[in-house]
Amino acid sequence: MADSAPKGRPLRSVCVYCGSSETTKPEYLDLASRLGAALAQRKLRMVYGGGSVGLMGRCARAAHAAGGEVLGVMPRFLERREIVLEDVPHRMVDTMHERKHIMFEESDAFIVLPGGIGTLEEAVETMSWRRLDLHRKPVAFLSEDGFWAPFFALLQHTVEANLTPASFTDTVIDAASIEDCFAALETLVSS
Ligand code: AMP
Repeated sequence: MADSAPKGRPLRSVCVYCGSSETTKPEYLDLASRLGAALAQRKLRMVYGGGSVGLMGRCARAAHAAGGEVLGVMPRFLERREIVLEDVPHRMVDTMHERKHIMFEESDAFIVLPGGIGTLEEAVETMSWRRLDLHRKPVAFLSEDGFWAPFFALLQHTVEANLTPASFTDTVIDAASIEDCFAALETLVSS
C-alpha cells in the first residue's frame, strides 16, 4: 500500500466518499456541489466512486463543470445502479475491493460527506488502515449541520473504553465548513 502523501508534500488528489442517495436533504446535495467546485478551484483532482447519483454525481459534475480534474472508479456490476458519469475519466473494475484500493492509491487525503452504509464502510476502512500505520493520509469528515456528530461520539466512546488510543482522534478531522476542511487537511498533510 503506497503512501502517496509523505510528510511535506502538498495535496494534489483528494478522494471524496459520499452518499449515493437522490432523496437525501437538498442541503447535503448542495454541499456536495460546492465541494466539487472548491476542489476544482484549488486545482485538486477529485477521486470518487464514478457514479452520477446522489452526492457523488453532484460533486463530480460540479468539479468537472468548474474545470477540475476528476477520476471515477466504478465496479462493472454497479454500472447501471450508480449510472457511471460518462463526462469524466473513469476506470472500470471488477470488485468493490479493487475500487477502494484504486481510490486509496490515487489519493493524498479523504473527505467524507454525509452518506449511508457504503460511505461509512469506505471511511472506516481507510481509518482502520491508518490505525494500523499503513498510511498517513488524513481523513476529514465534512458536514455543516453536525451530521457526523454521532459518529464522533461513537469514536470517543471507544476511546473512553480504552479500545482506541486518544491520540488516534488527532488523525481524524471534524470540519463544519469547506474552508475549515481544506485548512485542516493541508496542515495535517504537511505535518
Ligand atoms: P452509500 O453511502 O450507502 O450511499 O454508498 C456510497 C457509495 O459507497 C456507493 O457508491 C457504494 O457503491 C459504495 N460502497 C458501498 N459499499 C462499498 C464497499 N464495500 N467498497 C467500496 N465502495 C462501497
